[in-house]
Amino acid sequence: KIVEFAPRMSRFKASPSQIASARVRDLQAEGRDIIKLTAGEPDFPAPDNAKRAVIELMDRNEIQYTPVNGTLAMRQAVQAKFKRDNGLVYALDQIAVGSGSKQVLFNALMATVSSGDEAIIPGPYWASYPDMVKLAGGTPVFVMAGQNEKFKMRPEALEAAITAQTKWLMFCSPGNPTGAAYSWDELRALADVLLRHPHVHILTDDVYEHLIFDGHKFATLAQVEPQLFDRTVTCNSVSKAYSMTGFRCGYAGGPKEIIAKMSNMQSQSTAGAGAVGQAAAVGALNGPQDLLAERAANLQRRRDILFEKLNGAEGLNCDLPDGAMYIFCACAGVIGKMAPDGRVIETDTDFTMYLLDSVGVAVVQGEAYGLSPYFRASFVAPEADLIRGGDLVREACAALS
Ligand code: PLP
Repeated sequence: KIVEFAPRMSRFKASPSQIASARVRDLQAEGRDIIKLTAGEPDFPAPDNAKRAVIELMDRNEIQYTPVNGTLAMRQAVQAKFKRDNGLVYALDQIAVGSGSKQVLFNALMATVSSGDEAIIPGPYWASYPDMVKLAGGTPVFVMAGQNEKFKMRPEALEAAITAQTKWLMFCSPGNPTGAAYSWDELRALADVLLRHPHVHILTDDVYEHLIFDGHKFATLAQVEPQLFDRTVTCNSVSKAYSMTGFRCGYAGGPKEIIAKMSNMQSQSTAGAGAVGQAAAVGALNGPQDLLAERAANLQRRRDILFEKLNGAEGLNCDLPDGAMYIFCACAGVIGKMAPDGRVIETDTDFTMYLLDSVGVAVVQGEAYGLSPYFRASFVAPEADLIRGGDLVREACAALS
């Protein structure tokens, strides 16, 4: 044994999507042509304003350490963004900036969660939430919603999950992996439950805010119910909205006391977010915003292509997602069937492996997000790949007996 690992490392396992990515890489290394419907990031270029901001930063040579809670320009840009897009008014000391929303979410949990604390996670969920809660020493409490509920948590289900130990509701709309977006009225109903339980704090992850389709209007909990403002941390980032994942810049607005502790947490791990990412984020947040709707329309077209293909496959069944960039497709109809090589498809993991091995299409099994038998297919891929990938999935399904 090289070293005795810390017990906290056994609280979570390598993510199934990482295992799937490794399998894709192996097949590619063997020379196989793989169509990847696994992307978790948009494929647009960074906005021109963001690029220019980086060049200007370089010219000014402002590449030193940044304040732990973010540069003043960044916090001002975030302040303006929350007001403009969400009607939320935060003071500058109510804003935190980190290396992606992932770090901001992590800081919030690490700063507040003790052993015995519970965090409610509506599922299907982004696989990082439970692991972050566990790393912080808390217990994830899942509230699952099926396809018949459009993958959205009902107010009664939230009410039933709340205990005296509930510290957080972790909330994400539009969500990963389902793309389900809650309407104002649906948020209103959840807010009514939360008003009855003042000890519950709300961590909303709004990263898919601008990836929203069919005229759906995005709303966030602190906006729908201003009485929740004082116990909500609203997280977001430039990653998905502006297709700037690699800049690693996320942010949050929330109660001053929580934001201060999140900064303390960050000060001993990574300190201030990178100067380049923040400058680019300021450029994007303060720049023209009309590209957001154009990009959403582009993604919506690609969604429709993949949707039509998957829904036509024997044994598969899906609904159109309201937002994000994924279709969460039911595959109950292929479970129990036999592949041409004699293998029986027993789980959604078996099915995704079958798709990969037989027709070279990569998707992620629903198990990774807490709900089976489903799989997540991303429509961030060139249209030609969506068409060909969709046709190959149909062929693979038709070959089952
Ligand atoms: N939240 C959700 C729901 C996500 O799917 C992701 C990325 O996949 C993130 C947060 C992290 O985004 P970032 O750290 O790039 O802001």
